[in-house]
Amino acid sequence: MAFELSFEFFPPKTAEGEAKLLETRQQLSQHQPKFFSVTFGAGGSTRDRTMDTVLAIQRDGVEAAPHISGISSSREDILTMLQVYQSHGIRRLVVLRGDMPSGEVSASDFAHASDLVSFIRQQTGDAFHIEVAAYPETHPEAKSAALDMQHFKQKIDAGANGAITQYFYNADAYFQFVEQCQAMGVEVPIVPGIMPIYNYTQLARFSSVCGAEIPRWLSLRLQDYAEDPASLRALGLQVVSQLCQRLIDGGAPGLHFYTLNQANLISQIIGNLTIQNN
Ligand SMILES: Cc1cc2nc3c(=O)[nH]c(=O)nc-3n(C[C@H](O)[C@H](O)[C@H](O)COP(=O)(O)OP(=O)(O)OC[C@H]3O[C@@H](n4cnc5c(N)ncnc54)[C@H](O)[C@@H]3O)c2cc1C
Repeated sequence: MAFELSFEFFPPKTAEGEAKLLETRQQLSQHQPKFFSVTFGAGGSTRDRTMDTVLAIQRDGVEAAPHISGISSSREDILTMLQVYQSHGIRRLVVLRGDMPSGEVSASDFAHASDLVSFIRQQTGDAFHIEVAAYPETHPEAKSAALDMQHFKQKIDAGANGAITQYFYNADAYFQFVEQCQAMGVEVPIVPGIMPIYNYTQLARFSSVCGAEIPRWLSLRLQDYAEDPASLRALGLQVVSQLCQRLIDGGAPGLHFYTLNQANLISQIIGNLTIQNN
C-alpha cells in the first residue's frame, strides 16, 4: 500500500478564517494528500460548519472526510448527516464518540464510538470507509491500558477500516501499540496523528486534556523558549521531523497532520522527510 498523507482542519467561524483555510488547503494540496478531514466541534457545536467545509473541499477535487461524533447526536441526526454526505459523494468518515463542552452532559444514543460504527455499518453497509481514533498512550478516561486496547479492538470489529492516532512525541508508544494490535489480530492500518509544535502554552493545555505526553526534556526546552518563538519553532520543527522520519522508517502506513488550519510548518516538516513508496 502506498504511503498516505492526510490533513485535519477545524471548520472556520468567520469569512477571514475561511479565506485562510482556503490558502492552507491550496498549499497542502501540493503534497498530494489522500484526504482532508474536518473536525466536529465538541458536543456537535459545529455540525453545519463541518458539513459546509467538507462539501467545499470535495467540490475542489480533494477527497474530504467529515468527523462525526455520537456523543451529542441522535440516530436521526446521524442518518440525516449520512444521507447528505452520501448524496455528495463523500466516501470516508472519521467516527468518534466525541467530547462534550466542559460542564455539559450528553444525552446520546451512542455511548461509545463502537456503537456509532455499528450503527453506520448497519444503516449504510459498505458505503463509507470508516476511520476511528486510537490512543498509543491510552485514552485519558480508560480504566486501564489493557481495557482501552480491548475497546479499540471493538471499534475495528464493529467495522472500522482504519485508525488515526492521538498525537504523541514518543515513537515507541506508537510501535508498541501497533505490535499489541497485531498480537490481538487487528490488522487495519493505524496512521500516526502528528501535532506540529506551534506554541508551548497551547500544546501543554491540549496535552493535559487529551492525555498526550510531552516528554520532560522537550517540555523544559520548549519552556526555555517562551519569549523566543523563532527558536521554539526551530526546535519543534527538528523534533517533529525526526519523529515523523522514525515513524516512516519503522513502517507507519502514513501520517495524519493536525494542522490547526496552518500550512507552513507542516510543509517544512514534509520537506525534511524521505518518504519511500513501496
Ligand atoms: C484522530 C482523532 C480525531 C478526533 N476528532 C474529534 C472531533 O472531530 N470532535 C471531537 O469532539 N473529538 C475528536 N477527537 C477526540 C475524541 O472525541 C475524544 O478523545 C473522546 O474522548 C473519545 O472519542 P473516541 O472516539 O476515541 O471514543 P471511544 O472509542 O468510545 O473511547 C472513549 C473511552 O471510552 C472507553 N470505552 C470505549 N468503549 C467502551 C465500552 N464498551 N465500555 C466501557 N468503556 C468503553 C475507552 O476505553 C475510552 O476510555 C478526535 C480524536 C482523534 C484521535
